[in-house]
Amino acid sequence: MRVLLAGGAGYVGAHTAIALIEAGHEAVLLDDLTNTSGLVTERIARITGGRAPLVAGSAAHVDDVERAFAEHGPFDSIMHFAAKKAVGESVEKPLDYYANNLDTTYALLRVGIANGIRSFIFSSTGTVYSDPADLPFTEEATRNLVDLSNPYSKSKLMNEVVLADVQKVNPGLNITLLRYFNPVGAHESGLVGEDPKGTPNNLMPFVARVAVGALPEVGIFGDDYDTPDGTGQRDYIHVVDLAEGHVAALEKAQPGLAAYNLGTGIPVSVRELVASFERAVGHELPKSVKPRRAGDLAATYCDPSKAEHELGWKATRTLDDMTRDVWNWQQKNPGGYEG
Ligand code: UDP
Repeated sequence: MRVLLAGGAGYVGAHTAIALIEAGHEAVLLDDLTNTSGLVTERIARITGGRAPLVAGSAAHVDDVERAFAEHGPFDSIMHFAAKKAVGESVEKPLDYYANNLDTTYALLRVGIANGIRSFIFSSTGTVYSDPADLPFTEEATRNLVDLSNPYSKSKLMNEVVLADVQKVNPGLNITLLRYFNPVGAHESGLVGEDPKGTPNNLMPFVARVAVGALPEVGIFGDDYDTPDGTGQRDYIHVVDLAEGHVAALEKAQPGLAAYNLGTGIPVSVRELVASFERAVGHELPKSVKPRRAGDLAATYCDPSKAEHELGWKATRTLDDMTRDVWNWQQKNPGGYEG
């Protein structure tokens, strides 16, 4: 199948392009390159021996989406990765988040539906779930807009609402909501990985910068949570597993609306993740306990069994695979793609 990946030069999009090409599909990237590098396409070509053409433009602009269709269509499917994703920044700049994260969906749907796409695969988030009493989160767990702590998560849940309404009046269309847990890791080649601009907010890229000597120490945000070692637990998923989940969703897409959790289902604490990274590096990393970060939950992890039953997909890569691949990427690209 031929797929338009909006935000396809970004972290999850690029790994998905690789997985699509390796599975025999065609991938075209639409990306405004605000949070990634155009060099990604060259890296994808080196890994796959195939090409993922890049259309430089915004998924929020109907004209740019139309240009992608005119130059590279028709497409069987759109995958929508084009979003702002920094939780803290979203609290500071709610309008930027609501505008970008919804405008992209409107433009992609308008052009995509007018041009006969059969499926629309949306990057949602495990942060749409709002009640820790529901752990492990199934797809039916509580999702309540007013309970969500930040505009990033709210913008994703709002997208889900829009998409459900659009599907109702387009009964032949598949809309798949993929609720990601915490994507980490990098392609095992070390050619493609996460390249956050500035100081990373997320734990894994932060630890990687400490390991390479660019930051002095890992701050552990709280060790008095009600978890086995007192530090926060998350459901980290290797980005290549996540990418393969998109290929499975594409290949299994049937008319209708479906939501799937993409995670491992295994809660991993901050201390466990840092210890795994230390195994990858071969020595201890400087670290100290800091106060809790505002808005953090003690634990989030999913029940991924629906994706296994319905999509035939299951995450297979371990925590040590994730940290090893991040360390490999970080060493080979200490300054990111353009460094
Ligand atoms: N965390 C930490 N130090 C950091 C960044 C994050 O201890 O420098 C913790 C954070 O409190 C949470 C976990 O690591 O328990 C994952 O945080 P991240 O920002 O990566 O993901 P999210 O909280 O958005 O799921």
